[in-house]
Amino acid sequence: MNRLDCDVLIIGSGAAGGTLAGTLSELTDWRIVLAEKGGYFGSEFFDQREWAMRVLYAREGRRATDDGAIPVRGGQCVGGGTTVNAALCMDPLPEVWRRWREQRSLEGLSFDPTAADYGVVGLNLGSCLAEVRERIHVGLPEAALVNDNNRRFEDGCRALGWSARRFELNLRGCIGSGYCEEGCAYDAKQGTMITYVRDALARGVRLIHHCALTRIELEQRRGRLAAVGATGRVRPTDPGSRPNAVPPGRIEICARLVVVACGAIESPLLLARSGLGGAGSPLGRGLVLHPSLPVVGVFARPLENYRGLPGTVYCDQFVASHGVYFEVLFGHPVYGAVVLPGIGPEHFERMSSLPRLAGFGVMLVDSSAAENRVERSYEAPGYRIRYRLTQESKERLRYAAARAVELMFAAGADEVVLASDEPLGPLAAPRFRDPAQARHCAELRFEPHRTTITSAHCQATVAMGHDEESSCLDSRCEMHGIDRLMVCDASSFPGSCGVNPMLSIMTLARYQGRRIVAERERYGL
Ligand SMILES: Cc1cc2nc3c(=O)[nH]c(=O)nc-3n(C[C@H](O)[C@H](O)[C@H](O)COP(=O)(O)OP(=O)(O)OC[C@H]3O[C@@H](n4cnc5c(N)ncnc54)[C@H](O)[C@@H]3O)c2cc1C
Repeated sequence: MNRLDCDVLIIGSGAAGGTLAGTLSELTDWRIVLAEKGGYFGSEFFDQREWAMRVLYAREGRRATDDGAIPVRGGQCVGGGTTVNAALCMDPLPEVWRRWREQRSLEGLSFDPTAADYGVVGLNLGSCLAEVRERIHVGLPEAALVNDNNRRFEDGCRALGWSARRFELNLRGCIGSGYCEEGCAYDAKQGTMITYVRDALARGVRLIHHCALTRIELEQRRGRLAAVGATGRVRPTDPGSRPNAVPPGRIEICARLVVVACGAIESPLLLARSGLGGAGSPLGRGLVLHPSLPVVGVFARPLENYRGLPGTVYCDQFVASHGVYFEVLFGHPVYGAVVLPGIGPEHFERMSSLPRLAGFGVMLVDSSAAENRVERSYEAPGYRIRYRLTQESKERLRYAAARAVELMFAAGADEVVLASDEPLGPLAAPRFRDPAQARHCAELRFEPHRTTITSAHCQATVAMGHDEESSCLDSRCEMHGIDRLMVCDASSFPGSCGVNPMLSIMTLARYQGRRIVAERERYGL
């Protein structure tokens, strides 16, 4: 049994956990342990082979909803989602946080750059965002990194008179290899592994990877329940990973403050395994996925999609009216094969034309619904992710699908294909030959396993809110009714943050890190 003692235990090294470790180690000399379930794979390991890189993903990329219909992708490695994501950066939306503050009676969390939340000079989300942006090098990429797929999309938006915007990305010295989601072999993507976690390690934070913590240890202290540490198991180190700080076996880590940052699927499960939640509890409920509908265009001539940045352009024309973004992304062959429709000869035909395909996704900003949830299960894999599109989501997606088909034609496609085999009126399946046929999208039913929906932005399963009946955390991300236990990651959001979430999550983590330091007495630190 490995036994460790520290001041702060952070569980999960992704967007939130990595940022917290970097922030706390920058501002204090506390003894900090950063525990990560996945391996520590660096640029020396990233060989740009999609299949080999599945070790970077939760359940090797097979994590999905309970009906198997929607993949729920997430990183499971040092850096979490920031090691495998597309580096697309969107600032948190002040209006969303303002609404959360009002509806959920939250304190602090202000964007006003002059605000001193909790009486701490300079503490506000605006200043934390600026610090995060600087540390992870957020900026517009060079024009040379914008590839054909993105240019065609931009042309299509212009032809229709729709907004086409360039993404900011967290990059430094990018050579445009095109393999962001397989781990950056050039250390150009500035995820937490090579920014905040690297800073933390240089300052003495102890990183333990291959370490799945399975239970938060709780004790009664002065009549209240308090977290005192966590227990779990360290697996043998996988081939290709950097060496670990402790040998494989059981592990017990005692801490004055425990911060859970395992992401919106794993955080509620860890809490539930620790005896929290239960019947009627909001824990695990309200799952938001940002469900995405892939749209494929078949072009007459080959496009250069494998090189340059996969995503550099998006369209926000229908965000205010329908809560949907069109975002350019393109998969390499393995992911492409999963997304492209058809079986047998049709699938073969589609895969054969991969070099002539363009793609983008319709990303829906979905509303939190209590029946969409993550819960423990006694059957493998030990949990159930229950998510069904609501009628309201389907309605918005139908509208967006029709606009997306029009956009792909305006970009120059000869044929537009949705990853679906649902018959749409006169069409045997959603294979469109001219833009007028886009109206048939009104008949999409989004049946599980017939229309492909993907997801990678899970949020809102351990939500913040003042009311203890309907929420799990207070404004400090502290668990209601339990001392010295915080949950700070995508699960803490009360709903969708309204944009690609990485920057919103990192900003919240930076903010809570700075607040913890200012309020150290609260945690006996
Ligand atoms: C393929 C992909 C592409 C994406 N592209 C973008 C993008 O371009 N822009 C954007 O804004 N967002 C993007 N996202 C989403 C973004 O990366 C995530 O929203 C973000 O990383 C979530 O942050 P988090 O801290 O909540 O969790 P994560 O970053 O997922 O970190 C959680 C960590 O906790 C670890 N963990 C889980 N359980 C345990 C346990 N019991 N013990 C120890 N450790 C544990 C996990 O292994 C993981 O490393 C993408 C996501 C994916 C998967």
